[in-house]
Amino acid sequence: MTAETTPGTSTAAGVGGLVDGFGRVATDLRVSLTDRCNLRCTYCMPAEGLDWLPRPELLTDDEIVRLVTIGVERLGITEVRFTGGEPLLRRGLPGIIERVAALTPRPKQSVTTNGLALARTAPALKAAGLDRVNVSLDTLDPERFRTLTRRDRLHDVVAGMAAAAAAGLAPVKVNAVLMRGVNDREAPDLLAWCLERGYELRFIEQMPLDAQHGWDRTRMVTAEEILRDLSAAFRLDPEGDAARGSAPAERWLVDGGPGRVGVIGTVTRPFCGACDRTRLTADGQIRNCLFAREESDLRAALRGGADDDELADRWRAAMAVKKAGAGIDDPTFLQPARPMSAIGG
Ligand code: SAM
Ligand code: SF4
Repeated sequence: MTAETTPGTSTAAGVGGLVDGFGRVATDLRVSLTDRCNLRCTYCMPAEGLDWLPRPELLTDDEIVRLVTIGVERLGITEVRFTGGEPLLRRGLPGIIERVAALTPRPKQSVTTNGLALARTAPALKAAGLDRVNVSLDTLDPERFRTLTRRDRLHDVVAGMAAAAAAGLAPVKVNAVLMRGVNDREAPDLLAWCLERGYELRFIEQMPLDAQHGWDRTRMVTAEEILRDLSAAFRLDPEGDAARGSAPAERWLVDGGPGRVGVIGTVTRPFCGACDRTRLTADGQIRNCLFAREESDLRAALRGGADDDELADRWRAAMAVKKAGAGIDDPTFLQPARPMSAIGG
């Protein structure tokens, strides 16, 4: 980082990285590949699904690779996470991963998925160059899974995780959202189940990003409650800030290790000060925060003939105005227009 381009910063994103007014440097890119999904988790979308983005509005595989290449080669992106919607619904995913893996410097690549298609795709994704997967699993009870996701597919998720581990997509990380009166008693069982299999579990506080706008702060299961329930069953030793780095999860060693558990307290323990993320939606919008209410349209510029320099400049400009924090606990907080499934979680 040179003093001319980004005064006051000392990170290693390279010349002209994605720096905001608070000196944070974004090196972790979340790419949403589709807003569609084959589950209907109640905290995410309604039973009937949503008005999906029209196909012509979605970035093509080539457009995604071009933007990721600009991110990696010019803007200092070192990690790429594919998400959605359900990213495994995107047929071109192995090809995209293969092309991104060929970039210099090669970024780390991971996928956040509901796991339904992993049993079938894990070996090909690994062969294409994928490093890791995060699989979402909120309950171990088949009936509760059916209620929570509105599909009877627990078995497929469990098989998908095993296939990912067997393919070497390790460590398998597991994301769980707890909902009061639904699965909030399951935290210790989920942790024991993950520890047995060598999976790394992270609980995520439920956020106001559901399409139905049904989130209620007073009913949310907080990080503190989750930790209290886990502590009744396990000894938890904090890993500390050094191990956390810019990761959103605070982590604890479980029963002396090596197993760990993480808690992402986006609402009650926000980590905005260390945020290193930038987001690209499936329709080519840059978002500088999950909760941002403004986006920057890279697709229009790209399809209008902008060259790589101009696209990089637009991306930098979008990140430069990132706010200090998401402000969920602020009384003036307004939920973004897009739901989580259309932003890319
Ligand atoms: N479909 C994939 C999946 O479920 O892993 C990827 C997209 S999903 C939006 C990404 C993550 O966001 C999942 O772990 C999901 O549980 C989480 N998520 C969705 N809606 C949420 C909400 N309102 N609050 C907190 N997490 C949420
Ligand atoms: Fe689909 Fe993921 Fe949303 Fe569940 S959380 S409905 S799997 S996008």
